[in-house]
Amino acid sequence: MTTPAVLILLGPPGAGKGTQARRLEEKFGLVQLSTGDMLRAAVAAGTDAGKAAKTVMDAGELVSDEIVINILRDRLKEEDVAKGAILDGFPRTTVQAEALDGLLAENGQSVNAAIAMEVDDAAMVERISGRYTCAGCGEGYHDSFKQPAAEGVCDNCGSTEFKRRADDKAETVGARLEAYHAQTAPLIAYYDEKGQLSRVDAMGDIDAITAKMTEMVESAIS
Ligand SMILES: [Zn+2]
Repeated sequence: MTTPAVLILLGPPGAGKGTQARRLEEKFGLVQLSTGDMLRAAVAAGTDAGKAAKTVMDAGELVSDEIVINILRDRLKEEDVAKGAILDGFPRTTVQAEALDGLLAENGQSVNAAIAMEVDDAAMVERISGRYTCAGCGEGYHDSFKQPAAEGVCDNCGSTEFKRRADDKAETVGARLEAYHAQTAPLIAYYDEKGQLSRVDAMGDIDAITAKMTEMVESAIS
């Protein structure tokens, strides 16, 4: 038995990873597998791995890599992922990446591709921290890219109240990007060394990024 194609998407918050993953799912019939969803489903289904996960979670402990791997092994056998899976939230460390390689090696396979969505950090901070919305109608604006025609007045509804998300503050966005790089750099190096890494510039036009990622996936799963 062969396991489905396995793809890994790496990208910082704000890089559009969710959007691109959904498009790849649709184009290729792939299924995005999030660790949290798989855990909950395995616990609900009462599989052996699910029971093991429940025991440690009930004790307030973190689920081990081994349990996650066992849950993933079960999940990859299900029919809906026959065409392939995009892993979301796993692996996060090189130890987990090695465990994943071990799982795929059981069927003589390996990760088909790890795609790193690359961003320009300073541009990303500007892009995210400049966002604000109209408090009246929700219309989106941006300090650099889309100001209302009349300063301080919503083009759409005339409201003069606007909102900014606390999460969008420049310091917060910068800290999130730093945390992402610190966590992901070893994984990127890991897949790069194995010749499985593709890099895509994630700062450009969303459709153009999809087109590039589509080519990468096509060559990875053919
Ligand atoms: Zn408005």
